Amino acid sequence: MRERSVGIGAVAVVLGVLGFHGHTLSTAREMKSQTAPSASVTDAQIVKAESQPGNWLTYGRTYSEQRFSPLKQINDHNAARLGLAWYFDLDTHRGQEATPIVVDGVMYFSTAWSKVFALNAATGARLWSYDPKVPRQWGANACCDVVNRGVAVWQGKIYIGTLDGRLIALDFATGKPVWEQLTIDPQWRYTITGAPRIVKGKVIIGNGGGEFGVRGYVSAYDAQTGKLAWRFYTVPGDPSKPFEQPILAQAAKTWTGEWWKIGGGGTVWDAIVYDPELDLLYIGVGNGGPWNEKYRSPKGGENLFTCSVVALKPDTGEYVWHYQENAADDWDFDSSEQIILADIPIAGKPRKVLLHAPKNGFFYVIDRENGALISAKPFTFINWATGMDMKTGRPIESATARYPSVSAPPIVPGPLGAHSWQPMSYSPLTGLTYIPVNEVGFNFKSQDDFEFKNLALNFGIDMVAAGMPQDPKIKKAILDSVKGKLVAWDPVQQKQAWAVERPGPWNGGTLATAGNLVFEGTAAGRFEAYRADSGEKVWSFDAQTGVMAGPVTYTVKGEQYVAVLAGWGGVFPLVSGEVAFKSGRVRNVSRMLAFKLEGKQSLPLLPPQEEPVLNPPASTATAAQIHHGEAVYQRFCSGCHGDVAVSGGVLPDLRYSSTLTNERWFKIVRDGAYQSLGMVPFGKEVSQQDAADIRDYIIFRANQSKSEAKAKPDPGLTHGPPAILGR
Ligand code: CA
Repeated sequence: MRERSVGIGAVAVVLGVLGFHGHTLSTAREMKSQTAPSASVTDAQIVKAESQPGNWLTYGRTYSEQRFSPLKQINDHNAARLGLAWYFDLDTHRGQEATPIVVDGVMYFSTAWSKVFALNAATGARLWSYDPKVPRQWGANACCDVVNRGVAVWQGKIYIGTLDGRLIALDFATGKPVWEQLTIDPQWRYTITGAPRIVKGKVIIGNGGGEFGVRGYVSAYDAQTGKLAWRFYTVPGDPSKPFEQPILAQAAKTWTGEWWKIGGGGTVWDAIVYDPELDLLYIGVGNGGPWNEKYRSPKGGENLFTCSVVALKPDTGEYVWHYQENAADDWDFDSSEQIILADIPIAGKPRKVLLHAPKNGFFYVIDRENGALISAKPFTFINWATGMDMKTGRPIESATARYPSVSAPPIVPGPLGAHSWQPMSYSPLTGLTYIPVNEVGFNFKSQDDFEFKNLALNFGIDMVAAGMPQDPKIKKAILDSVKGKLVAWDPVQQKQAWAVERPGPWNGGTLATAGNLVFEGTAAGRFEAYRADSGEKVWSFDAQTGVMAGPVTYTVKGEQYVAVLAGWGGVFPLVSGEVAFKSGRVRNVSRMLAFKLEGKQSLPLLPPQEEPVLNPPASTATAAQIHHGEAVYQRFCSGCHGDVAVSGGVLPDLRYSSTLTNERWFKIVRDGAYQSLGMVPFGKEVSQQDAADIRDYIIFRANQSKSEAKAKPDPGLTHGPPAILGR
């Protein structure tokens, strides 16, 4: 079970041995034409970020991560006059999830493949860029696209966590590496996609991989030297060995079986928030791995600290308190989603709380001094729980929540989450939280013959049963049930103030401003502004591509800008197949977009999209071969090429592959012919017969899709040109 393919890890080890570094692309001419940025951000400055409204100093602007800006030059009365000030085209075309940092007129941000850019925030002119040269094969270790959500800035350095697990400090003026640390054991499928945070001279960084057999932890490194200061493991390791922290002895009592052999999950892949008032660090901990508790902790148990908010001492990483949102997770209900700190009135008295809207669909208000639950209500439709038991602080699970072996409606929300990484915002002026909400169910069925396999989706869930059925009526009902919306939520009243319906899920993060505005990008390719108090739309811009990232606002020489990173991708279009098209059939045009009042720039017209031709060979395989091919495809391939062989547009749609009729198929699938583009060899996991059956299944699906298209022409059916592997 522990045996691993060494292929991917070996690449990183070799690169490490050779002292391999990325390149800095700045030129002397570019540097000379720009004012040198200061980037001398100190802890004290981040603590007092409120006093620097023109800058965006840390991932969520301030330590509270409210993503509220006091700027109001752009407001609900003049937002209709917003125009594009500048745009900057990127050299990657995968999901773009980063929130930029802006310090004294310079914008720093990360892109797909963990690249970093520094731009003049008033003009978009490039100052420098840095490519950590993540081996493309490492992309196969990422559950959710090769994304990155942001950098940190502190005392003249820019910090980036890379997909292959490195933490790198760059010189703010040149983009040249100052130090680099490998934060993971490359034998395991860890990835970093989250933004580092700087707390009291330390860089705090987590990682992802809870779907693939890793053990979660968060680490603190000295920001000057890169030396490891402390590490907090979120789940206990092998209890026959000493526990790394005393609290893990307690946590181990909530586990059964031999969970440590397949990691246990509990990754800290997004929320890391510092509270300077209480000197506490809050982390959001991810799902248990495998998802199905039966295969993780077979005799039950709460499985601490999966699906929890945990408070730590930032100097030592010592445990202080925790609140577990889902005990004994069975659904991939990460609690990693962003945490907002706020002081809000509870029963007439101001309370120091944290606001949390994790995947499971409850909006939690938690006392951040001690972790006590103050209130929790569903912020959208859910059916896995019927409410919250306030005595125990535990959700009241519905009868079908733990997928008993009866046919039941899909569980809502599914693993996409009612709210995922897309940042929400909180306006202290309106008292409302602005949440990008998903409503997508999932058909959970326990996998009968689960065995941990490297390079597979190790959920313990039957992925064939979870796949989109092809019966037109059932398919239509499922697609009709999939929704997305922007919800303004009152955390005091625990009720919705207003909502804007979207065609589908996976819309952008939000920004709230003192100009009574909320900004949000959409999956369908718009960037929009709404009145924060009423939800009335005041402005909308054609962004030409899906926008997922969190917007920011800042000033340069007294003029206010709003900027957002555009570019479609991430886990939803990567794995969801046809469901992804509910949100809009957009292309990935990866760009930084910046707006101001009376901005006069315009985006170049997109070239017309080629209509790919579906021309598969005849399907001649037996039903048994096709069924077996489907099972192997869903377990090994669907995570990147899409549910039931329909790509959501991020990676190539195999139904269109020219290798369906020749032997090159096997060279790519089993031998790694496209390894340098990110398609790793599956020869150890997938036999020659498996590979042949996968191909038969795809040929079958391509023929099925072709006859469907003939029966009912869909004018919107444009999958776009085949995705460019590796970019
Ligand atoms: Ca997860």
